Amino acid sequence: MNTSFDGKTALVTGAGSGIGRATAQAYARAGASVVLADLDEAAAQAAADELTSQGHRAIAVRCDVSDETDVAAMVAQTVSAFGRLDMAFNGAGLHVPVTETADALAEDFDLAIAVNLRGVWNCMKHELRQMRQQRSGAIVNCSSQSGIVGTAGLGAYTASKHGVIGLTKSAALEYAPLGIQINVVCPGTTDTPMVQKAVADAPEHMDTIIKEIPTGRLGRAEEIASAVVWLSSPGAAFMVGQAVVPDGGYTVR
Ligand code: NAP
Repeated sequence: MNTSFDGKTALVTGAGSGIGRATAQAYARAGASVVLADLDEAAAQAAADELTSQGHRAIAVRCDVSDETDVAAMVAQTVSAFGRLDMAFNGAGLHVPVTETADALAEDFDLAIAVNLRGVWNCMKHELRQMRQQRSGAIVNCSSQSGIVGTAGLGAYTASKHGVIGLTKSAALEYAPLGIQINVVCPGTTDTPMVQKAVADAPEHMDTIIKEIPTGRLGRAEEIASAVVWLSSPGAAFMVGQAVVPDGGYTVR
């Protein structure tokens, strides 16, 4: 695959860490100017500084994706810095504690939905206002293998990630006639700070997780980023509302 994003602008949420950071790097290496947005402003700035020190064009923006005002400002800053918005990876997300449904907390349910689902809705809404004017663009939302199958103890997270696939399919149908491509990536368990934090209290869980992955290893953030870059590229122009699942085979067992 020879993808060139020269002259194009990419926006990445959750770009301070893990999959988002790897995706921002991949967009930059393909030639795009990149806006790195994250709740953790220092992490976004460090990731942007790394790219600019390598000769890429990048800026950092603080944004809480669950706050529509922040999201509108993030898109406005992108257009003000680079003049347009060609690609967006809506990667910001979080895990909530593993709990059986009868004991789950309403606050955790609300947080998972606010960030993982409403956050993607907020981002798509404002990204599409710009892309609709341009009559071009590509959006890749971030779901999960938990958007495809259920996971015991992860009801709120699973609901949020199933919802992202529904949002993606509906928006993709609305904007396909304009040539705006919208798809969703559903990573399997990937070696990022989110996963390291999730198993920090019980490291033995990692062995169980790995045993359930047919490849016998966790995914790498770069492997998810390469799927996102392809879904953002002209090579994927005939993909409409599709879920691409780089999960080491977890969901095909
Ligand atoms: P990560 O390393 O924790 O990175 C996520 C980033 O998003 C963090 O920098 C986090 O900031 C930021 N973030 C959290 N809430 C935010 C908000 N409200 N607004 C803006 N930014 C926010 O996680 P990751 O593993 O790379 O996950 C990236 C995406 O992939 C998520 O949507 C996740 O659900 C999905 N995913 C991950 C896996 C996996 O195994 N890693 C599997 C399937 C799907 P803070 O650190 O300050 O919270």
